[in-house]
Amino acid sequence: MTSSRLLMRLSLRMRLVSAIAVMALASAACGGGPSTPAPGEERPAVVVTHAVLGSVVQELVGDAADVTVLMGNGVDPHDWSPSARDIETVNNADLVVANGLDLEEGLIRVLEEVEGRGVAVFHATDHVVIREMDEDEHEGEEGEEGEEDHHEGGDPHFWVDPVAMKAVVTALGGTLAAEIGLDVSERQAALEAALDELDAEVRTMLDPVPAANRKLVTGHESMGYFAERYGFVLVGAVIPGLTTQGEVSAGELSRLKAEIEEQQVPAIFTEVGTPAAVVDAIARETGVEVVELHAITLPDDGSYLTFIREIAREVAGALA
Ligand SMILES: [Zn+2]
Repeated sequence: MTSSRLLMRLSLRMRLVSAIAVMALASAACGGGPSTPAPGEERPAVVVTHAVLGSVVQELVGDAADVTVLMGNGVDPHDWSPSARDIETVNNADLVVANGLDLEEGLIRVLEEVEGRGVAVFHATDHVVIREMDEDEHEGEEGEEGEEDHHEGGDPHFWVDPVAMKAVVTALGGTLAAEIGLDVSERQAALEAALDELDAEVRTMLDPVPAANRKLVTGHESMGYFAERYGFVLVGAVIPGLTTQGEVSAGELSRLKAEIEEQQVPAIFTEVGTPAAVVDAIARETGVEVVELHAITLPDDGSYLTFIREIAREVAGALA
């Protein structure tokens, strides 16, 4: 067999393989699309990207829908990419609930594709007042190229603010009715009331933290919405920026250590995705206390309400 014939065979085989893959994708896609649930029939499939958001969605729909969460609890969303199975799950969804604002960077293309086929995709951050970033956090110079940055700006970590979550619940209630015919109005009203109560409870829990101690240093910039809601200042982050995937430069690190000392920050918070060696070095050199913060991990009871209480308890415990 000549080498060119061998190549032809190989390419034919590859085309066959990709044709089979396309068929598999297409058959997976047939399960998707909006459906109207009838009593006693299959429940609509709602797919949620991360566990904290998933807990709220589950609470909202009760047993009227099958809720599947893609990222495992405690997984760093900035360091996650979907498996083939995750993509199939998204393809078979009746409704996808995503966080938005590049949190699920590895899923953006898949979401655009299913949306293009008519599957409803709800982006939670479309329904939140997005936190404005400080000037120096926009690193790009005012380039007139226009196409250097395809990323959406803004802070995706809205879930640490129960008031922002309430706005998402309200919007999602409407989407569930409009897109997959689910009436969740009763559960929605109960959840909205619970989130109002939770907000008041968090304020009470944080009362003992004096104004001078309302300073947050976290693993990355994950607590901006919490800080704005409850009157805290973001002093800095071990990994500066909105993702855990950034680099820590020596200059930034020494600036952070100086800030911690100057501002007499009592404690710093380490999270999923925070490099332990860097945190240890900061603690050793400044004497600051290190406290674990569960800003993306659901507690054992799986409840969003408990999740927020835990964050408030961790912050108050370290800074009061
Ligand atoms: Zn984050």
